[in-house]
Formats: sequence, C-alpha cells, structure tokens
Amino acid sequence: MSTTTVTSLPTAADLRAAVRAAFDAIGAHADLAEPGGHGLPASTPVTGDILFTVTETTPEQTHLAITEAAQAFSNWRTTPAPVRGQLVARLGELLREHKADLAALVTIEAGKITSEALGEVQEMIDICDFAVGLSRQLYGRTIASERPGHRLMETWHPIGVVGVVTAFNFPVAVWAWNTAIALVCGDTVVWKPSELTPLTAIACQALIERAAADTGVPGHLSRLVLGAREVGEALVDDPRVALVSATGSVRMGRQVGPRVAERFGRVLLELGGNNAAVVTPSADLDLAVRAIVFSAAGTAGQRCTTLRRLIAHTSVADTLVERIAAAYRTLPIGNPAADGTLVGPLIHETAYRDMVGALEQARADGGDVIGGQRHHVDGASEAFYVEPAIVRMPAQTGVVHHETFAPILYVLTYDTLDEAIALNNAVPQGLSSAIFTTDVREAERFLAADGSDCGIANVNIGTSGAEIGGAFGGEKQTGGGRESGSDSWKAYMRRATNTVNYSSELPLAQGVHFG
Ligand code: NAD
Repeated sequence: MSTTTVTSLPTAADLRAAVRAAFDAIGAHADLAEPGGHGLPASTPVTGDILFTVTETTPEQTHLAITEAAQAFSNWRTTPAPVRGQLVARLGELLREHKADLAALVTIEAGKITSEALGEVQEMIDICDFAVGLSRQLYGRTIASERPGHRLMETWHPIGVVGVVTAFNFPVAVWAWNTAIALVCGDTVVWKPSELTPLTAIACQALIERAAADTGVPGHLSRLVLGAREVGEALVDDPRVALVSATGSVRMGRQVGPRVAERFGRVLLELGGNNAAVVTPSADLDLAVRAIVFSAAGTAGQRCTTLRRLIAHTSVADTLVERIAAAYRTLPIGNPAADGTLVGPLIHETAYRDMVGALEQARADGGDVIGGQRHHVDGASEAFYVEPAIVRMPAQTGVVHHETFAPILYVLTYDTLDEAIALNNAVPQGLSSAIFTTDVREAERFLAADGSDCGIANVNIGTSGAEIGGAFGGEKQTGGGRESGSDSWKAYMRRATNTVNYSSELPLAQGVHFG
C-alpha cells in the first residue's frame, strides 16, 4: 500500500532544545542529564533517540512521598471542598497558559500528532473545569427513615492517598482525570507515570506545584515518583494508599488487582480494550469511513479505545474495505509535529515487533493483510513508523481476541444483527464499541441490555475520542473501573450512612422489641 511520508524529521538536538524550551516556559526544574548516565532514560519515538537521563525515585524517596501525601491528607480532608476547588481552578488556568508547551512535550515523548497532543491537554483543562464545578456538588442523599423522629442520610468523605499509575499513551490526561477529581474530593495523590514518559510527568508536576503555591496550599498534596514497575509496586503494596488507580495493560491489571485486594485496598482499573464497530446495511458509509479511519489509524493505533475490529454486514464489507484502504493510502505518516501528519510513530521497537507478529499470526489463520509495512522515514532508522493494516479474517481467531497495541484493523462479516452483537461481545475485553446505522431499531438494540457489553457503546461515531463528561471505563478484562465525569468521583470517596435520632424514643428498625 503506498502512503504519503512527511519526510523531514527533527534531530535529537532539536528535540532536546524543544524539551528545554518547554521546561523553561512551564517552570519545570529537573536535572536533564546527558543520555547514558545512571537513571531513567527519557527517549522519543519520533527519532528513536534517548534525549536525557532523568533521576529515578529511590524506594526511600517513594516511601517518603507517600508519607508526605498522607500527612498532607490530614488537613486537606477538612479543607472545604469549594476551597479545594480553587487549587484545581488554578491548575486549569496554568494548563490553558501552557497548553502548547505541554502538547509539544506529549508529541516528543509519546509521538502524538500535534492536534491530538493539544486535544490531550484540552482534556486536562476540561476535567479541571468539571472538577471545580464538582467541588460544590459532592452530594449525599437524604433517605426516608422508617422510624419517627429519625433522619437517615449518606455523606461522602475523602478516602486518603490515591496512588495513580499511568500508561505511556495518555501521558498527561489520565493523571489529570485522577488528580483533579481526587483533589476536590479531599484526597492527596502520588503519581507513578509510565517509565516511557517521565518528561511530561515532570512538567505536570511543576504545574501542580505552581498552582499549589499560587493558592497557598502545600505542594505535598500531589507527589511524583519516577521509575518502572517496582516504583508502582511500592504504591500497590503500601497500606497508606487507600485507592490505587491504575491504567495500562491487562497484564499489569492482573498483577495490581490481587495485590491491592490482598490488603483490602481499593482499586480502579483502566485496562486494555479490543474495540469493535458494527456497520449495518443502512449505515451512512461516508460518515462511517471517516469515523473508522480516525478510530483505527489515529494515534497510530495506540489508544485504549482504538478501533481494532470492524464487524461489517456482508452487503457492505467489500465497499467498506476498499474505501478504508483508499483513505489509508492518503494518510500522511511521519514527523508527528509537522503540519498535515496524521500518523506518527509507534512507541518503540517492541510495539513494532508485536505488530509484525500479530500480522504473521493473522496470515497463518487465513487472514488477508492489506498494508502494515514498516514505513521508512529519512533519518529515523531507530524509530518505528508503520502503515496501518487492514486484515480480512475468515473468523474471529485467537489473534483477534488479543489487543495488539498498533494500527491493525481486523475485518469480520455478519449476516444478522444478533451475530454482529455476539462477535462484538466475544472477546475478553469490554471497553468501547460502536454501531453505524440509520435504523433506530438496530441502534437501540445495540445499546440495550442484550446489546454491546462494553463500558462505552456509541451510535454513528467511532470507538475513540470520548468526552470527559461521561464516566470512562470498561467491563471484563478492561477492569471495571470508571474515571472522569458523571459520578466517577464516588470511587475517590468513602460513603458513610448516618442515622440521627432527634426524638426522645428509641424505636428499633424492623419493629424489633428488645427489653
Ligand atoms: P503497561 O501495562 O505496560 O504499563 C502501565 C503502567 O503500569 C506503567 O506505569 C508501568 O510502569 C506500570 N506497571 C506495570 N506493571 C506494574 C505492576 N506490577 N505494579 C505496578 N505498576 C505496574 O501499559 P502501557 O504499555 O504503558 O500502555 C498501554 C496499555 O494501556 C494498553 O493495554 C492500553 O489499552 C492500556 N490503556 C488503557 C486505558 C483505559 O483507560 N482503559 C487508557 C490508556 C491505556
């Protein structure tokens, strides 16, 4: 498949200078050492270079960060929620001011095209706005008591330190989803970002510390710890961390979930997806093709909500595949910071190898592969740019059940809507799904109790690109957590049921007499 290349890539020196410029603008003061020394390598998928070495957090420092967050919690929990909201409001202002600086870092470190990187920072701004409003709406209920002279109610209280573990592909937004909500709920935060994205994390930490200084609250409300899995494990195992909110692969969730449960901690898991779109005979194909191309090839297939399975009615499958393949041929691939680029790099060589392996397996299972070649970009021998792949599969075989974090779209066909829904639901993950139809019966059936089993089910839009206002998350191996909007804040608070007797009698519930 021939595709367009956005050829000119920046050099590692250009990217280092861009990181330093963004850090200066944001006011991030970190020791950005030359690559190769002792510490955490900060690399870029744009060229494949290691740009800097940053200081890793030691186990003692991680322990101290949790101690500081736990100490800060003792005052923060009794600070009135609307006052807590002022800190988040200031963070939102700083994010607006530094939107382009932070987005530039996201592009360098995660390889997102500029528009998507700006969108990710906009998500942070949106969640700050949402959380500020929420700071005046942490409502409990008053419930009708069965006893005279009694009031029955529910109240919500902060739970403590929230350990936030995040994935590389949303290096800043997922921190903001958790932190903005946790802070207005009265919790404090210790964040362990992906080891692949320490620079964006350092920048976010600088902004929250500035927001704290500007609003006169302690900076220890939100701490950053840098490192790989072992640093995350320290949060997972520490009984002072009341909630572990962990975003990443199913493999990570399998490790984190039981360990937190072992100590009766609370866990919020946002894990992998294997998202499908059903395209029915009545679908508006122009609209469907645009949505499919964005969901399947956008972010080079590296969103948890990326469209990975197309379930097309037999009457539209050939046309759809032709049109998607034609659109793919025009997608500019290359430097994610360049105007016009739509597909940036994969995060690293392992992601590329995984993609090659999945395509080999799909071929062995009878799949017909279009595209999926490595895309050579001048000056990027260590970077991994790929053409998005379309794979027509005879059946939903093992490889299709697996989330390969790369732009592979498996195409399956169906004859009846029941079959399509069964295919949609027959994978272990349950994050996002969509149906393209102009038939209201089909649309409603897809959203009904016996329709899609996913946490997100859309009609006539793709599987990716959710707004912050809704609760975000998925079922089955996606982990069951909900973050961001709606009433997701309840995961960050503990609920108390209070019964107040303002009478001089002592009636017992259920009419029980005792003595
Ligand atoms: P990953 O699982 O490799 O790493 C995620 C984070 O978990 C990293 O910070 C890592 O250091 C940490 N980690 C790994 N093992 C751990 C352990 N045992 N204890 C504590 N921390 C541990 O994921 P990734 O490659 O960075 O991201 C891609 C994956 O994330 C995909 O599967 C994608 O679908 C998923 N994801 C899900 C969502 C969602 O909201 N559902 C959002 C973004 C990404």
